[in-house]
Amino acid sequence: MAKKVVIVGGVAGGASVASRIRRLDEKAEIIMFERGSDVSFSNCSLPFFLSRIVPTTENLVLMNPKKFKNQYNIIAKTLHEVVDVDPVRKKVRVKNLASNEEFDESYDSLVLCPGASPIAPRSIEGVDKPHVFTVRNVGDISGLDSYIKEHNINNIAVIGGGFIGLEVAENLGLDKKNVTLIEKLNQVLAPLDYDMAQILHKELYDKGVHLILEDGIKKIEDNAVVLESGTVVEAGAVVLSLGVRPEVELAKKAGITLGETGGILVDHNYRTSVEDIYAVGDAIEVTHFLTNKKTRLTLAGPAQRQARAAADDMYGKQHRNTGVIGSSVVHCFDYNAACTGLNEKQCKASGINYDVAYVIPEDMVKIMPKVNPLFFKLIFETPSGKILGAQAVGKGNVDKRIDVIAAFIMLHGTLEDLKELELCYSPMFSTAKDVVNHAALVGLNILNGVYRQIPVTAVRELVENNAVIIDVREPHEFEGGYFINAKNIPLSQLRDRLDEIPKDKPVYLHCRSGQRSYNAVCALQGLGYKNVYNMMGSFLGVCAYEYFNDKTKDRKPIVTAYNFT
Ligand SMILES: Cc1cc2nc3c(=O)[nH]c(=O)nc-3n(C[C@H](O)[C@H](O)[C@H](O)COP(=O)(O)OP(=O)(O)OC[C@H]3O[C@@H](n4cnc5c(N)ncnc54)[C@H](O)[C@@H]3O)c2cc1C
Repeated sequence: MAKKVVIVGGVAGGASVASRIRRLDEKAEIIMFERGSDVSFSNCSLPFFLSRIVPTTENLVLMNPKKFKNQYNIIAKTLHEVVDVDPVRKKVRVKNLASNEEFDESYDSLVLCPGASPIAPRSIEGVDKPHVFTVRNVGDISGLDSYIKEHNINNIAVIGGGFIGLEVAENLGLDKKNVTLIEKLNQVLAPLDYDMAQILHKELYDKGVHLILEDGIKKIEDNAVVLESGTVVEAGAVVLSLGVRPEVELAKKAGITLGETGGILVDHNYRTSVEDIYAVGDAIEVTHFLTNKKTRLTLAGPAQRQARAAADDMYGKQHRNTGVIGSSVVHCFDYNAACTGLNEKQCKASGINYDVAYVIPEDMVKIMPKVNPLFFKLIFETPSGKILGAQAVGKGNVDKRIDVIAAFIMLHGTLEDLKELELCYSPMFSTAKDVVNHAALVGLNILNGVYRQIPVTAVRELVENNAVIIDVREPHEFEGGYFINAKNIPLSQLRDRLDEIPKDKPVYLHCRSGQRSYNAVCALQGLGYKNVYNMMGSFLGVCAYEYFNDKTKDRKPIVTAYNFT
C-alpha cells in the first residue's frame, strides 16, 4: 500500500520534505497543509519588496498548489491549519480557514515544519495597533507596504537590529523613508562581535538610518514609540523584529518532548519523541557542531538540509548529522557582512581558549577599479590552531571568504591547513594571497608568539593615556588623519630614527591596515626591542571602530580626522 505522508507547513522545510519524498517514492500520497495563503515563497526575499528590488509580491511566490500538483503530484492546501494531532489514531485535525470547516486526515508519517513566529510581546502597550507590523510572510510585507503608501508614512521605527530588522531598515531606507532602528543590545547583528558590528553602525549612520542602541521599546503610540529611556521617536509605522519563537503548540498537543531551548527535541534523524512524527526547520532544537551544545538556528539552509534528511530516514536512507555552525550573510546598503562558527562572545561563554587574527587587506588587486578594504576576523583555538569562526565585513565578496572558513570548520581545519589552501586568483577577484590565507599567516604568527598585538578596542585608552604610538605610514598619509599624539616615523625611515623610539616603554605600532607595521615590529624586535606591539586593524580598523560612537556620543575623537582610504 502507498505510504501517506502529511506535512504541516508548506514553506522552506515543508516544501523541501514534500519534494524529496516525491523523488524517493513516486507512489507516496503527500499532503501538505499551510495555514497561510502561499506555499513555497521566498521568506528571505520579503524585505526586498519594500525597495522594489523585488518588484512585485508575485515574484516572492516560487510555487503554488497547482504547480505542486502538476509537477510533483503533491497536494498542497493553503489556508488550512492543522489544529490537533492524535498520535495514537495517527490522525491530524485540520481547519479550512476559508470555510471554517474541520476534518480529520490520517497519516503514516507526519512531518512538523511549522517554523517560528515573530515575537510581539503583549507587555508592550500599543502592540496591537494597526500601524504595528511583523514580517514573516507575503501578506505581512504587502500589508506593511500598503499601509505606508496609503497613509503616506515617512517616519518608520524598526525595533530590533537582527537580520530581519536590518534588512527591513535598509530597504525602507532605500525607499527614502526616515528610518529609526532601535536595538536593546549595544550592537546590531548579535552573531558578529562588537568591533565588526561597529562597521555596520557606521554604514547605517552614513546612509541616514537613525540608529539607537541600548534602548528598548516601552510603548507604541499612534504617531510615536516611547523607549525605556523615555526617548520619544516619531513613527507612523512600527516594524517589530524582536526575534522569533518556535511554533511548538501542535507538538505539545501530540505529547512530543521539547528541548532545553524550547524547540522541538529531535534525534539525529529528525524523529521526535513520538513514533512516526518528524520535525524540521525553525521549530526544532539543534546541536552546535563546535560546542556540542543545544541551540536554535533559524536559517533556510539548515531547514532544507534537515528536510531532506528526515525524508531520507523515512525511506531507510542513512545520513550523517553534523549539527550546525550558523553561517549567515546580510546586505546593509553598500556593505555586506557574513559570519560563521563561533564569535569571541561565544568562545568566552563556552570557556574555549582562543585568539584572533584581524586583517584588513584589499579584496582584489589594488589597481582594480572596484577594489575595497575587507575587514576580516579569524578566530582560532589555542594552542591547537583549530579554526573556530570568522567574520567579514566589506563592500565586496565577503560570503566567498566566509564560505571557505565554514568548509574548514566542518573539516576540522587548522591555521596550517588554511595557510596552504590554494584558491583561484585573478586581479578582478582577489589577491594572490587571499584574505583567508593572509589571516592564517597572521594567526600562525600570533599562535607561535612571533609578535604581540593589541585589539582595536584597546586603542582609545592608549591614546588617552599618551602611550607611545608610532605611525609608520608615509607623511602624506599621516597628514590625512592620525592618532592624537602619535609620532610619524615611516617604515622607510625607521632604521635611521631609532633614537626616537624608546626601549624602556611599550611601543605601539600601526600603519594603514597592519602590514607595514608588522614589518616594523619585526625590525624593532630584531634590533633588541622587547616591548613592541602591532595594532590589529591599524588606522583603518580603529577609524571604523570609533567612528559611530564619536559621531553619536558626546566624546572627544582620538583621531585628528577619519581616513578610510
Ligand atoms: C523576512 C525574513 C528574512 C529571512 N532571511 C533569511 C536569509 O537571508 N537567510 C536565511 O538563511 N534565512 C532567512 N530567513 C529565515 C528562513 O526563512 C527560515 O529559517 C526558514 O524559512 C525556516 O523554514 P521552516 O519551514 O522551518 O519555517 P517557515 O519557512 O516559516 O514555514 C513554516 C510555515 O508553517 C506554517 N504553519 C505553522 N503552523 C501551522 C499549522 N498548524 N498548520 C498549517 N501550517 C502551519 C506557517 O504559516 C509557515 O508558513 C528569513 C526569514 C524571514 C521571515
